[in-house]
Amino acid sequence: MSAWEPVIGLEIHVQLKTRTKMFCRCEAGWGAEPNRRTCPVCLAHPGALPVPNGQAIEWTILLGLALGCEIAERAVFHRKNYFYPDLPKGYQISQYDEPLCHDGRFLVAGPEGDAEVGIVRAHLEEDAAKTVHVGGASGRIGGAEHSLVDFNRGGTPLVEIVTRPDIHSAEEARRFLQLLRQTVIELGVSDAQMELGTLRVDANVSVRPAGSTELRTRTEIKNMNSFTHIAQGIEAEAARQIGIWEAGGEVVQQTFDFDAASGRLTPSRSKEEADDYRYFPEPDLVPVAPSRELVSRLRGELPELPGARVQRLEAGVGRSLAVGLVTSGRDRLFERVAAAGVEPTAAANVLMNQLAGAGVDPDAVDAAELAKVIEARDRIPRAAFTEALAASGDPGFAAERYLADAAVSDMDELEPLVERVLAANEAQVAAYRAGKQGLLGFFVGQVMKETGGKASPRVVNELVRARLQG
Ligand SMILES: [Zn+2]
Repeated sequence: MSAWEPVIGLEIHVQLKTRTKMFCRCEAGWGAEPNRRTCPVCLAHPGALPVPNGQAIEWTILLGLALGCEIAERAVFHRKNYFYPDLPKGYQISQYDEPLCHDGRFLVAGPEGDAEVGIVRAHLEEDAAKTVHVGGASGRIGGAEHSLVDFNRGGTPLVEIVTRPDIHSAEEARRFLQLLRQTVIELGVSDAQMELGTLRVDANVSVRPAGSTELRTRTEIKNMNSFTHIAQGIEAEAARQIGIWEAGGEVVQQTFDFDAASGRLTPSRSKEEADDYRYFPEPDLVPVAPSRELVSRLRGELPELPGARVQRLEAGVGRSLAVGLVTSGRDRLFERVAAAGVEPTAAANVLMNQLAGAGVDPDAVDAAELAKVIEARDRIPRAAFTEALAASGDPGFAAERYLADAAVSDMDELEPLVERVLAANEAQVAAYRAGKQGLLGFFVGQVMKETGGKASPRVVNELVRARLQG
């Protein structure tokens, strides 16, 4: 047991995939030429007025419910004032002391048991536009020749989720994020892709002597673009802080960028405090007052959540496989394969190892066909099995072809058939041996008939030829 315990809180931004932006009717989403999806509202022209996107509000409530949050009877949009080149209004419409969702709990199922992560709040805000720095190294502003602003993203709805500092290892942070991402995707409210920036994560990290309950000075890590980098960034920062405390120093509150390539943490701008933003209620918007009927309808639409699914699957395949299946999004496919009669642990192992290794998208797989392949795993040669799994996500995939291939190479099964066919056709065998090589096809055909067409002609061909020469 380490003498130090990391204390981690996460701030997650989820870009909602609504058709239009948060406060105007511009189309949201990727792919358009820069600055084509703009209007007077999202470009902050004088006199333009925001109108909230109802779908974004419903989806935020839905996500809040999935996070076990209370849904406010009255939520208020605030102006968060700061200057940034990609923020044309000079403020962002966000939520401050009256967020839409607050005080939740999210179950994080891990191999060693369940942990609960408290959710401070989940609120709705608009995204800033995107600044692209040109000519510098790795797209950073330092060393860039010039910068361009693309306002297409400006005004896209964004949910910010803030957790309590209830996470105590980099691995637990990663698992929380995997389960959260699965939830968001299953709710259908966001693509949640870190590489596209539709899911962004910042981590607050401090350390304390293991067993104590104190909270020491924390630092923030930003700009991490994969779950692996987040885990690495947290580990690097916790180690740095432990080093400082053990050397008798003092950790200073600051913000870091984590560079995954070098594993280095670089200090970035200092963290603003809430006071700096001069929050005040947005005068152009009335408070949001979701009706209790709406909230209860949305609650009824919630799917079974990942934590609950791990608990349910655990009985069949054990904790570790259950966690793996759910965090990787393979549990739905697993359940269909198991329902087709495959032994659950075998099915789970194949899905988590070979199928994952082959990089097959579980949503593209026909469970019934995959079940046939897994059922046959001990009867068919390794190569055919691997090949079948790799192809199992292809459109129109049929197991039969691979199973037939497999049956063929089962020599023990085929040899007696070849023997029988040759014994029953002595005259033809004599003729073949006397030089009528063309009879080979006849024997192969007879053997194929005996197997009901399930054998591979190639293998039968080889067997017959070998037997006739022998
Ligand atoms: Zn607009």
